[in-house]
Amino acid sequence: MGSNRSHLVLLGPPGAGKGTQAGLLRKELGIPHISTGDILRDEVQRGSELGIKAKQLMDRGQLVPDDVMVGIVRERIAAPDCKEGFILDGFPRSLPQAVGLEKLDGDLPPLVAVSLDVPLDEVVHRLGQRRTCRGCKTMYHLTLNPPETEGVCDRCGGDLYQREDDKKDVIQARLKVYQRETEPLLGFYRERGALVEVDGTGSAAEVFRRVLAGLEARA
Ligand code: AMP
Repeated sequence: MGSNRSHLVLLGPPGAGKGTQAGLLRKELGIPHISTGDILRDEVQRGSELGIKAKQLMDRGQLVPDDVMVGIVRERIAAPDCKEGFILDGFPRSLPQAVGLEKLDGDLPPLVAVSLDVPLDEVVHRLGQRRTCRGCKTMYHLTLNPPETEGVCDRCGGDLYQREDDKKDVIQARLKVYQRETEPLLGFYRERGALVEVDGTGSAAEVFRRVLAGLEARA
């Protein structure tokens, strides 16, 4: 892409590959990848007041309140490393969050929302097979992208675990919340001419090529 100054939002159901594509975009563009899920999981691990409250909602697949999330993102994108842009993964997740983000935009280039389109039956399968590194947060898929040694992260040697909310019952709750709260954002960004829709099926490398092509076509 001509300029590295980018302001990207990744949309798609849980398990669509937002984290993986955001990581690849981070390397390509040299701007931070901000995962609100990772920020919350760090709070949970630290046992902060926010973490204790958030955990109860996260374990049930429910959303943390909009004002809390907008506050977290406001603080994070004010950091110096976000001056040239950033990639948001997992935020916004509701219309009030999208409106809140518009108000935080400052002098950044216009936002582009990349939607990863993956059928819901496939995301259910992907989430059930997903394992996450406790250390560097890299994600694996037990059959499509397994670690070299079972239970051990290839990247940092950390311990791989199944997130509480990647268990069967919670997956269904998360998908319902996605359809009700987050899917309407596709229309929100489409109306603003800011939506790039990408087929999110296939390998991470294939999807990444489509993401870059979609972004190039807009540049
Ligand atoms: P994720 O890692 O993006 O799948 O997020 C895991 C969980 O964290 C979600 O199911 C929510 O409970 C919470 N969460 C993450 N991002 C947000 C957000 N933008 N708004 C509300 N809750 C969020």
